[in-house]
Amino acid sequence: MEYTAEDEILITESFDDLLVSCEKICKSEEDWEIIKRAFTLAKEAHKGVRRRSGEPYILHPIAVAKICVNEIGLGVKSVVASLLHDVVEDTEYTLEDISAMFNPKIASMVDGLTKISGVFNAETSQQAETFRKMLLTLLDDVRVILIKIADRLHNMRTLGAMPREKQIKITSETIYLFAPLAYRLGLYAIKSELEDLSLKYRFPEQYREIEQKLNKTQEQRTAFIEKFDAPIIRKLRESGVDFEISGRVKSIYSIWSKMQNKQIPFEEVYDLFAVRIVFNPSPLIPEKSQCWHIYELVTDIYPSRPDRLRDWITYPKANGYEALHTTVMGPDGVWVEVQIRSRRMDDIAEHGVAAHWKHKYVSDDEAVSDPAFDAWLQQIRDALSSPTENAVDFLDNFQRSLYTSEIVVFTPKGEPRRIPKGATVLDFAYDIHSKLGAKAIGAKVNHRIESLYTPLSNGDQVEILTSANTHPTTEWLEHVTTPKAKQYIKNYLKKHRQNNIERGIAIFEQRMQELGITPSARVFRKLLPAYECSNKDEFYSKLGAEIIRLDHIQEILRQNSANKILKFWTLFVGNKEKENIDDPEPDKKGDKSYVVGAGDDIDENRPSFEIAKCCIPIPGDDVTGYRDPATGKIIVHKTSCNELTRLASQYGSNIVSDIKWSSHKAMSYLSIIELQGIDRIGILLDLAQVITGELSINIRELKIQSHDGIFEGTISIYVTNVQDLNTVMNKIGKIRGVEKVKRIQQEG
Ligand code: MN
Repeated sequence: MEYTAEDEILITESFDDLLVSCEKICKSEEDWEIIKRAFTLAKEAHKGVRRRSGEPYILHPIAVAKICVNEIGLGVKSVVASLLHDVVEDTEYTLEDISAMFNPKIASMVDGLTKISGVFNAETSQQAETFRKMLLTLLDDVRVILIKIADRLHNMRTLGAMPREKQIKITSETIYLFAPLAYRLGLYAIKSELEDLSLKYRFPEQYREIEQKLNKTQEQRTAFIEKFDAPIIRKLRESGVDFEISGRVKSIYSIWSKMQNKQIPFEEVYDLFAVRIVFNPSPLIPEKSQCWHIYELVTDIYPSRPDRLRDWITYPKANGYEALHTTVMGPDGVWVEVQIRSRRMDDIAEHGVAAHWKHKYVSDDEAVSDPAFDAWLQQIRDALSSPTENAVDFLDNFQRSLYTSEIVVFTPKGEPRRIPKGATVLDFAYDIHSKLGAKAIGAKVNHRIESLYTPLSNGDQVEILTSANTHPTTEWLEHVTTPKAKQYIKNYLKKHRQNNIERGIAIFEQRMQELGITPSARVFRKLLPAYECSNKDEFYSKLGAEIIRLDHIQEILRQNSANKILKFWTLFVGNKEKENIDDPEPDKKGDKSYVVGAGDDIDENRPSFEIAKCCIPIPGDDVTGYRDPATGKIIVHKTSCNELTRLASQYGSNIVSDIKWSSHKAMSYLSIIELQGIDRIGILLDLAQVITGELSINIRELKIQSHDGIFEGTISIYVTNVQDLNTVMNKIGKIRGVEKVKRIQQEG
């Protein structure tokens, strides 16, 4: 489609706007010239192409460049690379062209921004490979990832035009990787916006609900903050502190997460507030002392919660963040978080790594050392150091390392080392040296002997004990949390795995011969899930390593593998064809939904469904499907499931979004309820009566434990839908002594 005169005006205006932003970064004629040249090329390359929203494509690279300048604080080269970032991927131009027309540096940045192309089979993930490539580029040039984040931010801001599958794929990647990355790079505002936008497109109703409730209570909150601030302002002025104080409400996403994690309504999210005090330090006293002075003044007014004091000044966060955080009891019995920072600390907090970046790169390319930033890069380098790991594992490990907070642990000589919170003695051993890890048998933690699996705490002093006769085992993998330790252990095990596979095959074949069974595909279909193995190799190697045994193999083979409940599922799936980007019209065929019953009479050509074990959705839950590339089956997850998010961020093309429940009143589904309360005689009877008597629902399992006057337990029941489940939970909640009733959500 040719651009209209209106389009041309829009493009020109948008680019002019970018040029205005560039005034603060362009220092020479060459700077202006190269930006204009990049624009001309990008406009030519994307000529006639439109985004899904209908606007000319070139507006996207311009918007990304604008974010880089205005919101991240990047320079000229980044603007040029932003303008060109989709040229190689989407048009005829090659990297060689870019290199010749601009320079090799720009070309290598554009390369880092270009997706990996080619054919990927079910075991590899193009998404994961692309991320790995992007992260590798990060080691040479952090700007690539900052531009990628800007690119993502703009795509998220314009996500409304995308079809549902794409929205789930993109929001998953955003939540799984980009928001944590933005956080790790210290881009807090962008991280927050990415999270909010993800929520907005993933759960539009819940997003709107929180937004409305926040708006409704706006005045009330402003009044509260004023009341809270008043005595602090008075006290700080009296002491001659030069400061600014600002109150803010948590982001919609963080409120939503809290509601999800704690299973509480909006009204019970109590710590909605945070107050920030930024001071201009007086020159003669160290900043640190001044922070503590302000802390003292504040906690003289409001009592603090000792367990919530965070000293990021003595040990700044890995992303360079420095501040003092405390939570105090404000007026009306409300907890308020107070953050205390100097102007310099605030600058780092607001601009994150870009602030480091500016210090690090005085003139766009000339590196200056910055210890905090370099330490962070070193961590990524460690995570990337093993080329044998497949991209999906790598991404999972890397992702996990992004969000964890850190603690400081001391060596026997008193050298402080940062390790992620939750790390064990074994992690620490590997952190010091891979050889020390491989030979570790335990440690002296604060002079006491502890096992390898003991999690370390802030301030521990740790001396690793070794033995020449020990070696890594599969069990170790369950007791380490750092990617580095995992990788070393995996590498060791892999080396020994091939031997195990061969042994496993021999053991298996012998046993099959004894039983007179031919190991057919049908046999493996039963064995693999029963032994929780995802493929034959895993099965053989576990068998060879004696992790699994064939003691019950006959019973397993006798069992009917079909899950009884599955026969009753009825789900609708839209008969939508694969999305076609060139086709701006949404696919009309989506209306032709058909019913799929996962029963015996299933039509071979229709997809069959399986209920995800991680989140166990039941009718009424908002669900999304994931087509298992190995079996073609659609695994049905709750839309809010973390595992689904992980899958969608790596195998986004397998997402099946248009799955709906059909109401099927006669059938029932398994659901698990967790309860807690004060023990009293007869409570069990009351429970059973409510469930089976009044509501005539079938209990499959009732597990109650009681200790010290408290009871807790789980009830597995069959219900027809979410409404029924809620009715049961309400009734149970009203039983005398029951304090908490909660549906079990997915683990981890
Ligand atoms: Mn883009």
